[in-house]
Amino acid sequence: MLDRRILRLIQDIVGEAYVSTTDSDRLCYSYDATQRRHRPDAVVWPADAEQISRLLKLANAEQIPVYPRGAGSGFSGGSLPIQGGLALVTTRLNRILRIDQENLIAEAEPGVVTEDLQQAVEALGLFYPPDPASLKFSTLGGNVAECAGGPRCVKYGVTKDYVLGLEVVLPQGDIIRTGGETMKGVVGYDLTKLLVGSEGTLGVITRIILKLLPLPEAKKTLLVLFDSIDGAAKAVAAVIGAKIIPATLEFMDATTIDCVRRATDLELPAAARALLIIEVDGDASSIEIQAGRIEQIVAPLGVVDIRIAATAEESEALWQVRRSVSPSLRKVNPDKFNEDICVPRSRLPEMIRIIEEISARLQIPIINFGHAGDGNIHVNIMVDKAEPGQKQKAEQAIEEIFAATLKLGGTISGEHGIGLTKAPYIPLELETGAVACMKAIKQALDPNNILNPGKIFLEN
Ligand SMILES: Cc1cc2nc3c(=O)[nH]c(=O)nc-3n(C[C@H](O)[C@H](O)[C@H](O)COP(=O)(O)OP(=O)(O)OC[C@H]3O[C@@H](n4cnc5c(N)ncnc54)[C@H](O)[C@@H]3O)c2cc1C
Repeated sequence: MLDRRILRLIQDIVGEAYVSTTDSDRLCYSYDATQRRHRPDAVVWPADAEQISRLLKLANAEQIPVYPRGAGSGFSGGSLPIQGGLALVTTRLNRILRIDQENLIAEAEPGVVTEDLQQAVEALGLFYPPDPASLKFSTLGGNVAECAGGPRCVKYGVTKDYVLGLEVVLPQGDIIRTGGETMKGVVGYDLTKLLVGSEGTLGVITRIILKLLPLPEAKKTLLVLFDSIDGAAKAVAAVIGAKIIPATLEFMDATTIDCVRRATDLELPAAARALLIIEVDGDASSIEIQAGRIEQIVAPLGVVDIRIAATAEESEALWQVRRSVSPSLRKVNPDKFNEDICVPRSRLPEMIRIIEEISARLQIPIINFGHAGDGNIHVNIMVDKAEPGQKQKAEQAIEEIFAATLKLGGTISGEHGIGLTKAPYIPLELETGAVACMKAIKQALDPNNILNPGKIFLEN
């Protein structure tokens, strides 16, 4: 626990109203989207980089762990205060500072909610593509720290492809700026890329310069229901093989569809064993051509039904099917393990077959959905952790799935990060030399190990 003297020093920095040690606040900031709970000793809501710098200097002097946090929607425990200390919440840094229509860039603070930035730029005919399914509540700071992806990444890339520059408070309190406003820049090491995806372990991001695109003129959404998972997986390969890159190519298996049916009032035919949500965008005439070609390509692959949205409202209704997946699965099984593997997209059908085989052999339900267009599957292992032996079976399934993923040339995390939950598996993917290099960077920037300790590398 923090003693009165330290609390007074924190109050001096952020003001009395912006630090709390109440049980309710400590409880509220003890969780993220994993099922784990770790209470901070105090919650602090700084107003700017200067205050964060002073907090980090104090934390170094007093050896207090500090855990940066945006909306707490992370799926790997990245924001959890596993050693107590301070939950440093960025929600007060919530200004969109400028949208530059000549240079197609935006500058924002980290606490801005992803969708708020998207709507602000879209009102000006501009486009910020990264769209995690959590965009209605996740923050830009959390997106940058996790290098968030989302459905549109198949065509437009992930968060790192849009971050041009950052302002960051380093673990010992120095404030630095990396990158800039230009589309090019090769002066020195690329610290911006290093910080994107660093999961709050190398610095607290306080300003973000983002690249924008012109907003596509039109889009068309197709919901395609298949009678088998194999048909859907083949459709993904066939669409991409035909040199069509849709803006999104999302997939759900039969059990995911069942969960959505049980948890919502969405109507999906019983014969549907898999579905794809395919969205194409571009100018009005090209999207009609693309949609028509996609219809032809998928038709022989066991299609049960195709729904094509004619209006923005109908498109939103189709997307509602996808956005309801995570909450629906959580409703059906709050204890599930949620993995986030990514394989080269041509290997997707093979990967799905391997997961089905593991599920059948270990007799453990495994539900798959996700960003099929970039080979990124959210693998949900549905267990009742209270039942004897179930947790062990789930762990065995995870190890086998990770081994198969790596064998197919994939990665164990496409977008959710390592945080706490995947830390034990890092040696499966990274060679010892690479891990040593990462640890050396962490040690150089954070010699007292006060910023997000215990994350990414187990022994931190
Ligand atoms: C329903 C649901 C759907 C989701 N869908 C997707 C998806 O499609 N794609 C995807 O990629 N993720 C998805 N996620 C995961 C999550 O929303 C993302 O990882 C998101 O980027 C986290 O943002 P956040 O603001 O909640 O960050 P938090 O969870 O608060 O923090 C995440 C990490 O970022 C660090 N951090 C936060 N702010 C800062 C900062 N300013 N400086 C430095 N470090 C910081 C934290 O320490 C932590 O390590 C989903 C989550 C949910 C619950």
